[in-house]
Amino acid sequence: MSARLSRRLLLALGMLLLLPSAMWAAAPAAKVYVILWFDTEDYILPADDDAALHLADFLTREGIRATFKVVGEKARELERRKRDDVIAALKKHEIGYHSNWHSVQPSPALYLSTLGWDEGVAEFDRREGPGRDDVERIFGRAPTCYGQPGSSWGPQSYGAMKKWGMGVYLDSGRHVGLDGKPCYYDGILNLYQLDHRPRTALTGPKEEQLAEDHFTDDRKALLAEGGGIVSIYYHPCEFVHKEFWDGVNFRNGANPPREQWKRPAQKSPEETKIAYDNFETWIRFMKRFPEVQFITASEAAKLYRDRARGRRFGSAELKIIASAVGDEISFQKYKGYTLSASEVFVLLNEYVAERAAGRTPGALEVKETPFGPTSASPAVADGTTTDWSQFGRTAADVADFVRKQHRVPGTVWLGSKPVSPEAYLRALALVALDLMDGKQPPETIEIKPTKLKAADYVSDDDPKKLWGWVIFPPGFRAPAMMKLAKRQAWTLKPAVLDPNPE
Ligand SMILES: [Zn+2]
Repeated sequence: MSARLSRRLLLALGMLLLLPSAMWAAAPAAKVYVILWFDTEDYILPADDDAALHLADFLTREGIRATFKVVGEKARELERRKRDDVIAALKKHEIGYHSNWHSVQPSPALYLSTLGWDEGVAEFDRREGPGRDDVERIFGRAPTCYGQPGSSWGPQSYGAMKKWGMGVYLDSGRHVGLDGKPCYYDGILNLYQLDHRPRTALTGPKEEQLAEDHFTDDRKALLAEGGGIVSIYYHPCEFVHKEFWDGVNFRNGANPPREQWKRPAQKSPEETKIAYDNFETWIRFMKRFPEVQFITASEAAKLYRDRARGRRFGSAELKIIASAVGDEISFQKYKGYTLSASEVFVLLNEYVAERAAGRTPGALEVKETPFGPTSASPAVADGTTTDWSQFGRTAADVADFVRKQHRVPGTVWLGSKPVSPEAYLRALALVALDLMDGKQPPETIEIKPTKLKAADYVSDDDPKKLWGWVIFPPGFRAPAMMKLAKRQAWTLKPAVLDPNPE
């Protein structure tokens, strides 16, 4: 008996022994959710069409639904090549979106790097919107998620996704991440910088074995914490090529015209068979565990549904929220739901604005997650103060701004004094607490410099960490865009697994 076989036997025995105690447990059994996704992007090498077909058919036979993130030009190319068979096979799975042209220059991070929020959202929509529409037309349904080509990420894409009604960002990268777990960013479920991303290389059984070990560790860790998600991605082209289609053509900022595009070198049929064998063995290995459940992007959106949305917050809860603000602005975690700093900002501002207008509000609701500020904020000098009359009038004005602009203001005006929204929120929480305690409004309100702690979860503009993709022109940096991304950390919060999903 091979070592591998005996290990499997032991594992199966172990599972049998564990079963009774698991059945006795009162809490719903912890699940390991596996989201399996394919960046379906190579529109140059025709063998990629067959690879997508092979993978989709295999998974359908196994009863597994994956998420195929399709590039706009790939969808159009399938249509031109009359690959109705491939389109039909992929349609049995979930369809996502992976940009219009992927690596044709300039890729999203390049063109977003010189733009602010509103211009960036509009430009992303202008360049990527038509490809999204083509994917919807060709596959007959709206793609449910987006993820960037390479590491060509930009925060403005989230603004466009919200316009498109797309609720999940599905990719793998290091621009934004919250302790390796799913999070909300700009109101969108972000499955991005996750702890558990095992893969098998596609070159032989040894590689597959390593991936099994990796998955075994991931599964153990997730079960210990009550369940969670494993994110696994491939590209259909990896099964048939020796090198990526875009590296051959668009490396280091190159942008040749279409008639000069070259096909990448292809794997031999034997090499492709080894790749499929690795993948299929591994998928069957994971599928055997009773607590493993394969999910798609839209199923993840249901499991990690934002349960703060539409929730009504009474005075007792608002008091807890106000006292949790403190000197460093960040998200807040409660049982079953979380609040981003921008949601806390809206709740407390609305409360104070109502009180300033002489009303005592009933329960307040989080209707949406306002975006973070889209402009830079002024520094707050020590010793800045204002009075209650001005503070109340400012709260009313800020409430109107958020309702109309759907974002936290970059500058809050206390009459002629500009302050940062962080400093304003800190003061807002203290004022709200006084009012909730039945005290008179304070005569003088102090505004102190305050930090957006949540911004630590968004990466600095580190070229090695963020911009190492071979398609970028050498030396690419995006400092202004990453600052904008840090401001959007006002919207960041953990996504909580729903223990009783519908
Ligand atoms: Zn890609």
